[in-house]
Amino acid sequence: MTTTLLWLRQDLRLADQPALQAAIERGGSIIPVFIWSPEEEGEWQHGAASRWWLHQSLGKLSAAIEKRGSKLILRRATDSLACLRELLAETGATAVYWGRRYEPLIIARDAHIKNELREAGIEARSFNTALLIEPWDVQNLSGKPFQVFTPFWRKACTAIDPPKPAAAPTRIAAPATWPRTATIEDLGLMPRIGWYHGMAEAWRPGEVGAQALLEQFLEGPVKNYAETRNLPAVAGTSRLSPHLHFGEISPRQIWHAAPEWRSTQFVTEIGWREFAHHLLYHFPRTTNEPLRADFARFPWRENADDLLAWQQGRTGIPLVDAGMRELWATGWMHNRVRMVVASFLVKNLRMHWLHGARWFWDTLVDADLASNTLGWQWAAGCGADAAPYFRVFNPESQAEKFDPQGEYQRRWLGSGPRSAPIVDLKASRLEALAAFQTLRTSGK
Ligand SMILES: Cc1cc2nc3c(=O)[nH]c(=O)nc-3n(C[C@H](O)[C@H](O)[C@H](O)COP(=O)(O)OP(=O)(O)OC[C@H]3O[C@@H](n4cnc5c(N)ncnc54)[C@H](O)[C@@H]3O)c2cc1C
Repeated sequence: MTTTLLWLRQDLRLADQPALQAAIERGGSIIPVFIWSPEEEGEWQHGAASRWWLHQSLGKLSAAIEKRGSKLILRRATDSLACLRELLAETGATAVYWGRRYEPLIIARDAHIKNELREAGIEARSFNTALLIEPWDVQNLSGKPFQVFTPFWRKACTAIDPPKPAAAPTRIAAPATWPRTATIEDLGLMPRIGWYHGMAEAWRPGEVGAQALLEQFLEGPVKNYAETRNLPAVAGTSRLSPHLHFGEISPRQIWHAAPEWRSTQFVTEIGWREFAHHLLYHFPRTTNEPLRADFARFPWRENADDLLAWQQGRTGIPLVDAGMRELWATGWMHNRVRMVVASFLVKNLRMHWLHGARWFWDTLVDADLASNTLGWQWAAGCGADAAPYFRVFNPESQAEKFDPQGEYQRRWLGSGPRSAPIVDLKASRLEALAAFQTLRTSGK
C-alpha cells in the first residue's frame, strides 16, 4: 500500500495544509509525524515560552488528527534525517511531504534531507505552508532582494494570488499498523517550574483557538484597527502572532477571510511578516550581525545589573516596566510597547540589540527568528528600513500619547509607588547620539 509521511513542523494545522492536501491526492495512507529536534536549530532553539506553546499546540493537533481516524507520531531526535529514515524503514512509506521553513540552519538541513531521501528513491517534496509569497518570488528591478518595506510590499501585492484555502479533511487514511510514538510529555517541553499560568489564561493555542481569534477580530476590532492598533490598553490588534508562527493559521486563510481588509493597515502588517521572511532568507547572517555592516563597530555598553532591571521590569520607567511585565506574565507584548522597550535598551541603556533579541526569544510565545530579527535591528537602527539611530523614542512622551490615561501602565504596575529611574532619559539620549556620532566619524 502507498504510504506517505507527513512531516509537520511549524504548520500545526489541518486546514489549508498544502502538504497534507498533496499527501491525500497521492492516495494511500498517511502517517503524520512531528520530530522534536532542538539541537538542529543551533543557538536559536525554542525558548521556554515557545516550548510551552508547542506542548499545548501538539496536544490540540494530536486530538484533531485522532478525530479523523489517524494518529500523530511523535519522536525525539538529534538528527531528523536519521529519524525519517527509521520511520521510512519501519512503515514502508515511499514519500515524505513537508511545509517549508526559512531559518538559515533549517534551510540547509532540509536541502540535505531532500537530496538524501531522493537519492534513496524516496519522493521528497516540500510546500509553501507559511507565507503569502516566498522570499525568492519577489525581486526589485535589478533582480535583487528588497531592503525597504514599501516597495517590497507594493511589488509583492502584484504577485500574491493564493489559492482558496482547503478545508480540513474529515478523514485521514490510516496505515494498517502504526510505528511507535513518544508521548507529548516525553518531549519535555513544559517548564519544570509552574510560571506559565498567566500564559495559560491569556491564550488558547491550536487551530481552533486561532480561527476563533480571527473571527472575533474580524467581527469587531479590525474596523478600528487604524486608530486603536497603537493603544496598548485596548484589545485593538489580532493577537494572532503566536498562531501564525506555529502555523496554526496561515496568512492565506487570513487573506481570504478578510478580502475587504486587504488594502488596509492590518493586512499590511501581515506584509511585514512576509518582509521579515524575505530578509531572513536573503540576509541570513542578520540573526546575529547587523545588516548595516558599519554597526559592527558600535560602542555598546555591557552592564549586567541594567540588563536584569530591564528584563524584570525594574527600570523605573513606567511604560518600559509595564511592557516587560506584560511579556513575563503573558508571553506577549503589544507592538507599540515592544518598540519602546527595545529603543530603551539599545539607546538609553546602549546595550547590544542581541541581548534584547535573546530575552524576547526566551519569553515570547510568538518568538520568530524572522520577525524578531527584523524588530530588533529596526529598533537598533542597524537593519533594513530601520528607524534611524538618532531617532530615540522617549518612553514618557510615548506613554502620554499612547496610554494617556495610564491604564496599561496601572494594569501591569499597580497603583503603588514607583521606583526611581535607573537612567536619566535626557542624558542617556545624548550619550547614545554621541556614540552614534563616533560610528559615523570612525567610518570616514
Ligand atoms: C523588537 C521587536 C521584536 C519583535 N519580535 C517579534 C517576534 O518574535 N515574533 C513576531 O511575530 N513578531 C514580532 N514583532 C512584531 C510585532 O510586534 C508582533 O508581530 C505583533 O505585536 C503581534 O501582535 P498581533 O498579532 O496582535 O499583531 P497585529 O497588529 O494583529 O498584526 C497581524 C500580524 O501581522 C504580523 N506583524 C505585525 N507587525 C509586525 C512586524 N512589525 N513585523 C513582523 N510581523 C508583524 C504578525 O504576524 C501579526 O500577528 C517584534 C517587534 C519588535 C519591535
